[in-house]
Amino acid sequence: MAKKKKAKAKERKGKKPKRKKPAHKIGRVYEISGGTLNRKNHTCPKCGTGVFMASHSDRWSCGKCGYTEKK
Ligand SMILES: [Zn+2]
Repeated sequence: MAKKKKAKAKERKGKKPKRKKPAHKIGRVYEISGGTLNRKNHTCPKCGTGVFMASHSDRWSCGKCGYTEKK
């Protein structure tokens, strides 16, 4: 038993590989209006375009710089 536990711990070492988001989830994030593609999520005013803010129940928050905005 003890040996098996050690082997599992070794496998978990290091950074986890980044999983790709399923296509149907990506499709929900974007919106087509008048022939242009718009992203529904907020972009960070500090980091600029390309950095999107995480949506929480009461706020938007940037994972890069920590900027938060109340809803
Ligand atoms: Zn930011």
